[in-house]
Amino acid sequence: MTKYCPICASEYLDSVTHCVDDGTRLTKEKPKTSYETAAYDIYAAANDIEAERIITLLNSEGVPATYYQSNVSSLPSDASKHFIITTPAKSRNVALALIQNARKDGVISDTGMFI
Ligand SMILES: [Zn+2]
Repeated sequence: MTKYCPICASEYLDSVTHCVDDGTRLTKEKPKTSYETAAYDIYAAANDIEAERIITLLNSEGVPATYYQSNVSSLPSDASKHFIITTPAKSRNVALALIQNARKDGVISDTGMFI
């Protein structure tokens, strides 16, 4: 039995639970097309705690997601560092809706930015 990373499409043995490269929880479903496996940056969280909270929220709803740290200065914010939430293209709309709801409900702050 083989498992796959829904973010980068790497293959792993069944005993592995998370992708070594990006920390994403592996699935048994094989990613089919480059569209489905293409990773999209969707949200810039203000700090790593909030990024972790968003990843946990998305994963609990069955949405694969990970984040990476960026120093991109073109984003309209005073923060010097950003924590960029990334999902596969096919999960993008669901992930955006979940983050919007989390902001509205006060689960996360409104200091992050949609990309
Ligand atoms: Zn991966």
